[in-house]
Amino acid sequence: MDDSGIPPTEKLYLEDAYLDGVDSTVLATDSEGARVALDRTVFYATGGGQPHDTGSIGAAQVIDVRSEGQVVWHTLEGALPLPGETVQSSIDWERRHQLMRTHTALHILCGVIWNDYGTAVTGGNMEPLAARMDFEFDPLPDGFASIIEQRVNEEIGLARPIVVSFMDREAAAIDEALIRTKTNLVPDYVERVRIVDIVGLDTQADGGTHVRTTSEVGHVRVVKTESKGKGNKRIRIALS
Ligand SMILES: [Zn+2]
Repeated sequence: MDDSGIPPTEKLYLEDAYLDGVDSTVLATDSEGARVALDRTVFYATGGGQPHDTGSIGAAQVIDVRSEGQVVWHTLEGALPLPGETVQSSIDWERRHQLMRTHTALHILCGVIWNDYGTAVTGGNMEPLAARMDFEFDPLPDGFASIIEQRVNEEIGLARPIVVSFMDREAAAIDEALIRTKTNLVPDYVERVRIVDIVGLDTQADGGTHVRTTSEVGHVRVVKTESKGKGNKRIRIALS
């Protein structure tokens, strides 16, 4: 139970990112905020640099999705269902799949830069088919944008499988490959850490949605590199 007294929402996308709809039971509503909490959801809540999904719950449109503790709140435009009601929900799959491709592209970028330069990521953000990520470079190596673009597309071409698994919190905290992704930022109530492994390239503790193989990402272009101050360089990518 949460402070709110509402049971935790089962986040179905953690196990299956390809699920685009489900029937759920309404556990609570917040009529002032036009929000609804369900027993289980396919909607990704904004976090980890990935924006929330959009779609529908019943006849209403979902315009925002946020996590509060372990409860996922969906903000609706349209009729608010009643607690106890069964509702059918579905996400805008085209947008979600674009976000999955984009999120995986960022992990490929992280993996390439870590493996080739030993440089860690400091932050990032994405929208469908476009993203930016900041790295501790000072300065950027010569010809960096075109080298990285080529390396990322090579990894995409290798069709590396992407495997999601769950690991004991204590085991994750001492796993060398995971230390740089700051498993200590995973909230306390999470007993099992979710691991996203681009096999042979990059392993991270991550709560986001990803495609099944790197070849599903498509083509990545490095649009721009920028300096955001000493030891912080920004790389912008676009997918097609
Ligand atoms: Zn991620």
